[in-house]
Amino acid sequence: MVDFEKIKEELRSLLSSVKTSKELQEIRSKYLGSKGVIKELLKKIKEIPQEERREFGKKVNQLKEFAEQLFKEKEEEIKKVELEEKLKKEWIDLTVPPPKVLGSLHPITITLERIVEIFKSMGFEVEEGPEIELEEYNFDMLNIPKEHPARDMQDTFYVNKPGYLLRTHTSPVQIRTMLKKKPPIQIIAPGKVYRRDDDPTHSPMFHQVEGLVVNEYANFRHMKYVIEEFLRKFFETDMPVRFRTSYFPFTEPSAEVDIGCVICKQEGCRVCKHTGWLEVMGCGMVHPQVLENCGIDTEFYQGFAFGMGVERLAMLLFGIDNIKLFYENDLRFLKQFF
Ligand SMILES: [Zn+2]
Repeated sequence: MVDFEKIKEELRSLLSSVKTSKELQEIRSKYLGSKGVIKELLKKIKEIPQEERREFGKKVNQLKEFAEQLFKEKEEEIKKVELEEKLKKEWIDLTVPPPKVLGSLHPITITLERIVEIFKSMGFEVEEGPEIELEEYNFDMLNIPKEHPARDMQDTFYVNKPGYLLRTHTSPVQIRTMLKKKPPIQIIAPGKVYRRDDDPTHSPMFHQVEGLVVNEYANFRHMKYVIEEFLRKFFETDMPVRFRTSYFPFTEPSAEVDIGCVICKQEGCRVCKHTGWLEVMGCGMVHPQVLENCGIDTEFYQGFAFGMGVERLAMLLFGIDNIKLFYENDLRFLKQFF
């Protein structure tokens, strides 16, 4: 006699400990496979005496249905668990903060970006020029005569190719711009410049930002407004600004711009050498000869230009007293500017 209830019980207990699809598949073939327990019982039906055959067949079919149902339930259960495990393994937590970024912006970059952003907000475009420049653009066309002290070998780095040098200022970008564009022109030119200076306030390589405005009505008052507006935005304070008469070969009239010391608020300190004033840039109306050198008709157009040292502004902005700190790549220094 076949004990159907015992087979059911065995199957139930076997399946209760099954954890994977693979295990489940093995048990399924043992019971429902072509040589499985239930298939064998079905084959036996014809050997059963006539009077018991109907009852036996009914029980085998019930067992088959019972087993199929049980496997189906177990299969769903395992699939669910396996999916959960897969999701758990592949899950990415988007709320986890990224690892701390190792780099940071250099204080000179921060200062340059700050300067550029202020001028952009005032309608200036950015122009750039090469660091190895034509002597003609760096000096001649800017009205710097051959005997001018700025051309002295002690100040300028010449390169082996005759007629070329490392630009000593960003002013040649003025020439390049005026040669390729017709007025109105309103540009700034940020970049590296080179001079043979080397002490606590000078470096042989430093950064400048040059400004140039050429149009039909540019005048000294416009220039004064632009410079004062820039300086107050840059230092985020409404300090006094004064223009002192000066001389540059490429501007006439020329001026140097001082601001009330942002360190001591004009009380007098080491940085302003107890004068209460800090020199921050040079400026002036573009010399008519420079405009004419670039083919600009001075009957119709006039312009103003200004130039500033970025390291100087960065030192004042961040309260740094030695220019060398910018170039030593000391992380203890650089990490302060996150
Ligand atoms: Zn001061």
